[in-house]
Amino acid sequence: MGFLSLLRLIMLLAILYLWLFLPRHTFDAPNALGACLQMTIMRNEVAVIGAGTAGLITARRLAELDVPVTVYDRKKVLGYPVRASGILSIAGLRELGLDYGRTVTNTLYGARIHAGKEVMHVESDGPKAHVLDRQKLNDLCYDEAVAQGAEVVLERKVDDQMLGELERKGIVVGADGAVSHVARHFGMGDIGRYCLTYKAEFNIEADDARMVDLFFDNKVSPGLFGWVCPNSKDILEIGIGLDSTHGNAKDAFDRFATSGAVSGMIAGSKQLGAGASMIPMSRRRRIVDAKRKILLVGDAAGQVKPSTGGGVIFGGNAAIMAAEGVREELDGRKGLLEYEKRYNRKYALDTMIHSAANRIYSGLGTQSIGYMIRLFNLFKMGGFLGRYGEMDMPSLVFRNILQGGSGF
Ligand SMILES: Cc1cc2nc3c(=O)[nH]c(=O)nc-3n(C[C@H](O)[C@H](O)[C@H](O)COP(=O)(O)OP(=O)(O)OC[C@H]3O[C@@H](n4cnc5c(N)ncnc54)[C@H](O)[C@@H]3O)c2cc1C
Repeated sequence: MGFLSLLRLIMLLAILYLWLFLPRHTFDAPNALGACLQMTIMRNEVAVIGAGTAGLITARRLAELDVPVTVYDRKKVLGYPVRASGILSIAGLRELGLDYGRTVTNTLYGARIHAGKEVMHVESDGPKAHVLDRQKLNDLCYDEAVAQGAEVVLERKVDDQMLGELERKGIVVGADGAVSHVARHFGMGDIGRYCLTYKAEFNIEADDARMVDLFFDNKVSPGLFGWVCPNSKDILEIGIGLDSTHGNAKDAFDRFATSGAVSGMIAGSKQLGAGASMIPMSRRRRIVDAKRKILLVGDAAGQVKPSTGGGVIFGGNAAIMAAEGVREELDGRKGLLEYEKRYNRKYALDTMIHSAANRIYSGLGTQSIGYMIRLFNLFKMGGFLGRYGEMDMPSLVFRNILQGGSGF
């Protein structure tokens, strides 16, 4: 036997040995592929931090799109205690696709805007906004997310170590509110401006339960306003917001609630509940880090209307866009960046208009706002805004005028 024949024989025996004695799955191509896929899936886990409305709407949409998702929240009882109001435009609510009927406690047709002794009535013929029970709204978002297949883990405060682990496994969505730990951990920049708030409920009927009252007085509530909202037929909510650089919201609330205009409205009533909170008044510098697969939604991203601090509609719509972006990212497209682009396309212009409105009324004294109201009343602007205005998307006013529609 020559050297070459000997070599061939050794190679043949080696192949025979490997075939007979090595574990079968070593050469099992489908299994090896399965293991690879498994690893890919591991790296594509989606974690949502925060089970407020934004986090739960994100989770609901992800689950609808067949993306397995886990939501973590530090709270034991979601949405509790309630620190926010629930005035949401009917048009905006429809966009969120929530079955919100059972959460409605009142329906609004307009607003009375006060500055000093001047008042402007912005009133529509039809209902423009609902007041929702915020606790029930949170419960509804939870039920809908879980019904679609999302997993929600309560009493789990996400810290730096856990964020490191979640980042290694896949995509992290920060929906953890105005003071977002996710944003800080991943260096997503700051929110330029916050408002501090304080609100309380009183068991008394409103004189007109179809109207919310907004009070502009930059000595009491610089940077935002005070409000009196009929939450239901016999519950009035009194609240105040002021720029965080201008002191204490509880002190401002006490001054507001005892002022002539408001004290009369709640005279003889009992206070039911009260609490302080805060609202981000501008967008966070970054809402997406596509490389690290991090994105922010809701208050964590500063997705609110700077004219009023309302954030459920903007944050909820952003949540839907974020979930759709995550689905696309998992399908190999640049979905996270698309999320940011889509949000800007939809809301950048209106956010600018809301911001400008906030800058105008924040920069004017109460007397000047009073003069403005007097001027507006002269030109019957209240009726015009009641007919053509849009509380979320002021840019649509022009479209409404052209189409002859109405709004508040
Ligand atoms: C006084 C007041 C009145 C308002 N009125 C209105 C209104 O009329 N209409 C409107 O549209 N908007 C209103 N807003 C704004 C609105 O409430 C917010 O924009 C909205 O609730 C934001 O939802 P979110 O899910 O982004 O954040 P949040 O509701 O703040 O939810 C964040 C969640 O993250 C959890 N979390 C935080 N950190 C961690 C962590 N480290 N680990 C795990 N979980 C964590 C929290 O427990 C919480 O459940 C108001 C706000 C205030 C304060």
